[in-house]
Amino acid sequence: MARPLPGVDSLGDVAGKRVLVRSDLNVPLDDGRITDDGRIRASVPQIRSLLDAGAKVVVCAHLGRPKGTRDPRYSLAPVASRLGELLGRDVAFVEDPAAHPAGDVWGNADVALLENVRFNAGETSKDEAERAAYADALAALADIYVDDAFGAVHRKHASVYDVAQRLPHAAGDLVRREVEVLQRLTQNPERPYVVVLGGSKVSDKLKVIESLLPRVDTLLVGGGMCFTFLAAQGHDVGDSLLEADQVEACRRFLETGKVVLPTDVVVADDISADATTDVVPADGIPSGRKGLDIGPASVELFRDRLEGARTVFWNGPMGVFEVEPFAAGTRGLAEAIAALPGALTVVGGGDSAAAVRTLGIDEARFGHISTGGGASLEYLEGKELPGLTALEE
Ligand code: ADP
Ligand code: MG
Repeated sequence: MARPLPGVDSLGDVAGKRVLVRSDLNVPLDDGRITDDGRIRASVPQIRSLLDAGAKVVVCAHLGRPKGTRDPRYSLAPVASRLGELLGRDVAFVEDPAAHPAGDVWGNADVALLENVRFNAGETSKDEAERAAYADALAALADIYVDDAFGAVHRKHASVYDVAQRLPHAAGDLVRREVEVLQRLTQNPERPYVVVLGGSKVSDKLKVIESLLPRVDTLLVGGGMCFTFLAAQGHDVGDSLLEADQVEACRRFLETGKVVLPTDVVVADDISADATTDVVPADGIPSGRKGLDIGPASVELFRDRLEGARTVFWNGPMGVFEVEPFAAGTRGLAEAIAALPGALTVVGGGDSAAAVRTLGIDEARFGHISTGGGASLEYLEGKELPGLTALEE
């Protein structure tokens, strides 16, 4: 994308205007309790700045994947409470906008949150007319549309794509910031440029690797995907995650000479908090055992390869960080990236961003933590993102 996206400034004075904001409030819930409110906190500044400018704000968002019908497990009600706490204002929670005469969803509040847009089949429908009908209903609530949900821009959904065609629109600050950072990772990145990839599957990240490898100086690979690379080097990986159909692709990636693999691995018999673990050489994984984290020597190796980097993009945990015996690799790598002086450091991917927070590493030590996992990967793959296209038009 060459042109910068139109920002909220391009809309002129918003005082007294009704603004529909699409936010990314897709937070993890455990029995109705929010376990990580990062996305809500990230959404607050744009909502607050519109309120401060005198607008009436109606926020819409999705949560999880309900099947186009009301499902209490995916209600945004807990998010409305948390949003209210963070804003320090009453948030009107709107279960059904149609039940409010003349579209006044606010009552006495100046900010409202609509119930999960995916409770309406029109939101995600492949049928243009069905999506259009829902987009019309959303557009009727507001004078202006602001898309601040970077995590959803890769979706051709009513609240992301179609509604932008019905109202004067702009990209929210979060979307603009995400796009600006992703542009710096793809167009003339400052060198050395080091990318660190982990997570579970090579197949998930295949296209990203293909797109980034020609642009980077070094690619550090950890997480579950490193075992397919190790297998491509001819090593036995025991019972570790292995994608046999990706071995050939990994072999090609290794031929570039840019890929750095772990030299030691934390192995166990199973993923459990009281598992017996051992650190073994990456080329000596015993049969029957699973590699579940990169070892301490690999953390040192990766730290060394990161030294002097000017641009760093990290996606995918180095191990099963959710379980303490396998968290050290991810923690060590995150620390190494956070400690880099003067580099643009970007963390992408839902689990990687969650890892930074749950491992207790100060988010402010990173240049940017992307809130949109799938969307940032699709951007880096070079795909066209419908939500961004709609904002440019
Ligand atoms: P992101 O959401 O940041 O893009 P992914 O979804 O690709 O990351 O991968 C995250 C998952 O990968 C985590 O749940 C983690 O437990 C898992 N993982 C990391 N290393 C391993 C491993 N060695 N074996 C199995 N799973 C792993
Ligand atoms: Mg993930």
